Amino acid sequence: MTFEQLKLSPPILKALAKENYTQPTPIQEQAIPPVLAGRDLFGCAQTGTGKTAAFLLPIIQLLSAQQGRPSGKRVIRSLILTPTRELAIQISDNFRSYGRFLNLRSAVILGGVPQKAQEQALEQGMDILIATPGRLIDLMNQGFADLRHVQILVLDEADRMLDMGFIHDMRRIIAKLPAKRQTLFFSATMPPEITSLVDSLLTNPMKIEITPVSSTAERIKQTLYFVDKPNKLPLLIDLLQDPSIESALVFTRTKHGADRLVRGLTKAKITAQAIHGDKSQNARQAALNNFKQGVTRMLVATDIAARGIDIEELSHVINYNLPNIPETYVHRIGRTGRAGLSGIAISFCEYEEIPYLKDIEKLIKQNIPVIGDHPYPMTMKESTPTAVRETKTSVTSSEGSVTRGARKGTNRNDAAGRKETSEGPGRRWKRRS
Ligand code: AMP
Repeated sequence: MTFEQLKLSPPILKALAKENYTQPTPIQEQAIPPVLAGRDLFGCAQTGTGKTAAFLLPIIQLLSAQQGRPSGKRVIRSLILTPTRELAIQISDNFRSYGRFLNLRSAVILGGVPQKAQEQALEQGMDILIATPGRLIDLMNQGFADLRHVQILVLDEADRMLDMGFIHDMRRIIAKLPAKRQTLFFSATMPPEITSLVDSLLTNPMKIEITPVSSTAERIKQTLYFVDKPNKLPLLIDLLQDPSIESALVFTRTKHGADRLVRGLTKAKITAQAIHGDKSQNARQAALNNFKQGVTRMLVATDIAARGIDIEELSHVINYNLPNIPETYVHRIGRTGRAGLSGIAISFCEYEEIPYLKDIEKLIKQNIPVIGDHPYPMTMKESTPTAVRETKTSVTSSEGSVTRGARKGTNRNDAAGRKETSEGPGRRWKRRS
């Protein structure tokens, strides 16, 4: 299948050639024809599948093809709602690339930056508005945003918008749109709230499901280190002695944790910057650019800030903390191994995070291979029924194969309570006295 066969117009084809996109990704192949035909769409897909172009390309084509298009001040012809600032900027960058030979106007509305320029953009009107819900609501409340002319609505990463507590903002925004419109809805996961939102917002949608959430995990080489919380930093510094980890995106649970980790890494002479919600938009963009250009080796991020990050050829993702929402693990490791490349995901699990690990392994339907042979093995708590764990671990290289086993003839549970039945000598995990 080619982009020509999808009946995209010459200016768009020319822009795609400039981007070196030679053929559509599966979601683009399936989404572009129904969207061009005016249908509602429900796409179950995550970032990395090419979903942004799957909605932007047909929208650009539809909007640019309209004769007698509504002009005039304050008119907004399509609205893309997205959970994070980074994602909004990314979509805007993509729009500029794909629409470079067309004369469409866009604007981005997001928090963390002064409002004045956004007021002016809204005053002028635009073809495509890309917005995060919070700031858009603010501007609507102040009477700056008029959504009455929106013909096409995109809800991007709707599940994440729900996770971030945007449901009421989303509903209030949608209530201001014309009932007669085209709606494109994307979500990486399908919890019941999403299904009911889809039912209430879409009319006879075309449904497309690309790579169910668990399959991302199959492309990526994953390893796990059980390690006590205070030893996480020394372990990370130890692992980073390996020069094959040229750069890595590191996830922490909290903003403070991210800052603390950056300080620790910097002290160990490992270049690192943090990206999280307390940083100004400019600081976040600068940290991202430094990382992309190789000025910093480590980018330390919280989940919310990392959501929109698209870094080509990111080889390593490190989970300094395991997330409490299992889908988040898949989103995180999905930052690597994009566009068919393989990637490496390293996770640290402290005692308190073992329940999270169990949830993650249930979701991805696999046990993450454990590296037992490292300088900072976890000490177990007295109360743990499965406190003693025997592992045989061989690591052929930092990226090499990992095998795991239990003490010969025993059948014990590992730290995560998993059955271990294979044979081999092992390391005994000390009980904390
Ligand atoms: P997305 O899933 O929209 O975040 O896209 C993931 C990455 O794939 C982005 O860096 C896009 O620029 C890139 N991409 C999207 N569509 C194509 C395509 N047809 N060919 C090559 N790369 C693409």
